[in-house]
Amino acid sequence: MTHPWIGADENTLPLKALSAPVFPEPALSGAGGVDCESCGRQPDQWSLYEDDLWRVRLISGDISFPGSAMLTTVRHATSIADLTSEEAATYGVMCGRITRALLDRPAGAPGYGDGRVGRVHMHFWGDGGEHFHVWFFPRPLGYLDLRGSYLVEWEELLPPASEADLHDAAADLRDRLTR
Ligand SMILES: [Zn+2]
Repeated sequence: MTHPWIGADENTLPLKALSAPVFPEPALSGAGGVDCESCGRQPDQWSLYEDDLWRVRLISGDISFPGSAMLTTVRHATSIADLTSEEAATYGVMCGRITRALLDRPAGAPGYGDGRVGRVHMHFWGDGGEHFHVWFFPRPLGYLDLRGSYLVEWEELLPPASEADLHDAAADLRDRLTR
């Protein structure tokens, strides 16, 4: 499998033109609570943790690294600038718990490679839904090609995790987050 950037140059690959800017930008999904998937969601098999301010869910579906998870505010908040002081104070605590839960995964646990995690990557993009949401990706231990921003590029190319691995990763992470 070849990374899409390998050998890429303007003479061999078609370049996509940057689209013209759009003003005003389209609303985020679930904006104003209208048809909001997050507000309407009941706890299910991918729910890992919930309290009054935060929810954690396993990323399911087409994902290469089982244990990838998302931290979401219960309330609508479009960016870290919108968090209340209580949300801002507990945000760091939640990030620490999720990161530790993934880093503590032992060899043989469900996950890419031998299951161990070398580093936990966190991403906030904010261009999707209108709940503040942060992605956590467990970077498999020893896979140096996956360091840094290359991980999310490779994630698009590597085979998706099996349903069984996702279920095992959810159970493992739920257990670690509620200890
Ligand atoms: Zn909502």
